[in-house]
Amino acid sequence: MPLVVVGSVALDSVRTPTESRDNVLGGSATYFAYAASFFTPVHLVSAVGEDWPAEHTRLLAARQIDTTGLQVVPGAKTFRWTGKYLPNMNDRETLDVQLNVFDRFDPVLPEEVTRCRYLFLANGPPAIQMRVLDQCKGADLRVADTMDLYIRGAADELAELLRRIDGLVLNDSEAKLLTGDENLVRAGHKVREMGPRFVVIKKGEHGAMFFSQHETYVLPAFPTPNVVDPTGAGDSFGGGMMGYLAEQGNVDPKTLKKAMAYGTLAASFTVEAFSLDRLQQIQRADLDRRMEEYKRMLSF
Ligand code: AMP
Repeated sequence: MPLVVVGSVALDSVRTPTESRDNVLGGSATYFAYAASFFTPVHLVSAVGEDWPAEHTRLLAARQIDTTGLQVVPGAKTFRWTGKYLPNMNDRETLDVQLNVFDRFDPVLPEEVTRCRYLFLANGPPAIQMRVLDQCKGADLRVADTMDLYIRGAADELAELLRRIDGLVLNDSEAKLLTGDENLVRAGHKVREMGPRFVVIKKGEHGAMFFSQHETYVLPAFPTPNVVDPTGAGDSFGGGMMGYLAEQGNVDPKTLKKAMAYGTLAASFTVEAFSLDRLQQIQRADLDRRMEEYKRMLSF
C-alpha cells in the first residue's frame, strides 16, 4: 500500500570525529522515503531550490519513490543543515541551519497523494504538518515526528497536532522536554495521553521504546560495530517502520512490533556510511537477513 511522506529534503554537511562530508544528500523525508521504499511505493512531498543536483532526484526515482511532489522552486535555495557529532557518536550539535526554500514551504499535495491511507509527517513546523493532515482526509494511519525546536517554539500547535494523529515518533530528550518527566516510561505514556494512540521514543544507540494503552516495550538497537555517520538514523527508523506497516496493510500489535524491528534495522544500515550511501548498497534481502540475526540475538 503506498505511503506519503512530507518533510525536509536537504543538502547536509556532517562532521564526525574522524571524517567530514559537505553538501551531501540528506533531509528527514529523504532518509524516510529511501528506507520505506524497501517495503512499499512512497510518494515524497517536499521542496528544493535551483541548486539541487538533478542526480539526487534520479537516485530517489530509481527506487519506488514518486518524486512528482518534490517541487523545484525557481530562485530558491535548498534547505541546508550542518551538524557535528561528539566523540561518543550519539550526541550531536547543530552548527548551522539554512531554511532557504522551507521559509515559505506550504505543501500542496497532488490529488492522487491525498488519497493515500498511510501518512508520515517528518520533522517540520506543526502548523504545516496540520495543513498536510487537512489535505489527507482519507489517511487512516497518521504518524508524525517532532523536535525540540517545535516543542519549545510552537507548543500550542504541537498540542493540537497531537490530538489529530495516530502515532508520534520522537527522541528521548524530546520526550523529556515535552513532558517535563525524566523517566522515559512515564514520559512515553504522558505523550500518549496528549493524543496519539501510540508513541515511539528513539534512544539512538540504545534502541527504541514503544507505548500504547496496553503495551510498553523496548527494542535494542542492532549492534553494528561500524558507526560512521548517525545522521538520518531516526528518519530511517521511521521509514522502515512505516514502510513495513504499509506493506502489511495492518497495524495490529504484532505487526507494529515487527515494524519497530524493521525500523531498527534500517537505521542500523544508515549509520554504516555517510548520507544514503549504505542504504544504496543494500536490498530488502539484506534487511531480512539482519532480521534473522536480530531475532536470534533476542531469543533466550
Ligand atoms: P536524524 O538524524 O534522523 O534526526 O535526521 C537528520 C536529518 O534531518 C538531516 O538530514 C537534516 O537535513 C534534517 N534536519 C535537520 N534539522 C531539521 C529541521 N529543523 N527540519 C527538518 N529537517 C531537519
